[in-house]
Amino acid sequence: MKHHDVAIIGGGCVGLSTAKHLTELTDLDIAVFEKEHHLAEHQSGRNSGVLHPGFNYPPNSKKAQFATEGTRRMKQYCADHNIPCEEFGVLVVAKTDHEEEHLDVLASQAEANGVEYERLDSCAEIQEHEPHAVGQAALYAPEAASVDSQQYVYALAREIQQNDVSLYTGHAVERVRKKTSGYRLTTSNSEIDATHLVNAAGLHADTLAQQVGVGEDYQMIPFRGEYYEVTPDRSDVCQTMIYPTPDPELPFLGVHYTRRTDGKVIVGPNAVLAFGREAYQNTDADLSELKDIVAYDGFQKLLSSKTMLAVAWSELNKSYRKSKFTEAAQRLVPGIRSNDLNKSYSGIRAQLVSADGDLVKDPLTIETDDAVHVLNAVSPGLTSSLPFGEHIAKQVSEME
Ligand SMILES: Cc1cc2nc3c(=O)[nH]c(=O)nc-3n(C[C@H](O)[C@H](O)[C@H](O)COP(=O)(O)OP(=O)(O)OC[C@H]3O[C@@H](n4cnc5c(N)ncnc54)[C@H](O)[C@@H]3O)c2cc1C
Repeated sequence: MKHHDVAIIGGGCVGLSTAKHLTELTDLDIAVFEKEHHLAEHQSGRNSGVLHPGFNYPPNSKKAQFATEGTRRMKQYCADHNIPCEEFGVLVVAKTDHEEEHLDVLASQAEANGVEYERLDSCAEIQEHEPHAVGQAALYAPEAASVDSQQYVYALAREIQQNDVSLYTGHAVERVRKKTSGYRLTTSNSEIDATHLVNAAGLHADTLAQQVGVGEDYQMIPFRGEYYEVTPDRSDVCQTMIYPTPDPELPFLGVHYTRRTDGKVIVGPNAVLAFGREAYQNTDADLSELKDIVAYDGFQKLLSSKTMLAVAWSELNKSYRKSKFTEAAQRLVPGIRSNDLNKSYSGIRAQLVSADGDLVKDPLTIETDDAVHVLNAVSPGLTSSLPFGEHIAKQVSEME
């Protein structure tokens, strides 16, 4: 029977960053188990690839601290490892007085969190940055950047392997059992013992945690985010990155424009309930997972709110009717037309919902004597992954 000091389940940016920092802090024998044969197949490789400096998050929150520090550290990491990363800056556009009031909140958060920003008070000022965008005010944050998240994940993987971490791809952890001391993992290929466990399994983290009695008050509800790509002849509609002013009640940032490091401009994501944790197409469904979602008290409570029901309906429409998605895109750039948008990739957010029906907005980890379960590595989880992984590695290194 193989034994490792630390078994990390999940080779996404959180699991790999945790492994990286564990190699820097300890001499422990570390293994990462990833169910896919290739890395970055889920959230860490299917996102907008935007580094969000912490203006979106309340001062003194972990989210603000991780996002602000994460943006700066990730840029340095990308420079050191030849990962494409462009500091384009982001424009957050307000279209109504109500949104403009929320821009004031974002500006004061930027101030408190030490994030550079500029307040733009007219459409003319907005158009000096983005000639095709329309709004009444905006916040411009020059530190925001666009990064190739798949290359980042692979760079982390190469680095940890050079530091003697065993990376088992194609090893799905099917069962986790608590032993008198440590854990036994049954994977699709083998059985392995480990003294400490880090559960960073993204969309499946709640299922694995619950096998050892952790996180039973929560369930992961998958929200798909779909993207369209702007045709190359119209990609000048967005020079950098254009976001709507986010609704503070929701954990999602809204349909936005992102210029990727390869020069493509993508629009999205919406946030539609996925009929399965890996249901990447709007025609995909996993009936057993769907049954669990619908049967979950927390989900039923979430949908009992009229606001959430309206949001769910609107997002569903954006998924099945391109005209509705185009309308959301036109809100920021009125000149964009349906023909300018081609269907692109999608990603699925692992969004934790509490038994009370709340969308958990902050990162949530549950620590036991010998394990850390990462139950809610929500956006900006990519941006935050270096400090977040370091934080988890410190927790593990301090365990007896
Ligand atoms: C549409 C979308 C847009 C986003 N945009 C941004 C953005 O612009 N900026 C930003 O900062 N963040 C963004 N995020 C959030 C960010 O992508 C995530 O927070 C982050 O990638 C989470 O990383 P992770 O390692 O926890 O999860 P994942 O990348 O999902 O990794 C978990 C890994 O665990 C593996 N796994 C699962 N179950 C098992 C098992 N049983 N055995 C072995 N392996 C298993 C999976 O295969 C997967 O590789 C976005 C997310 C989405 C979905």
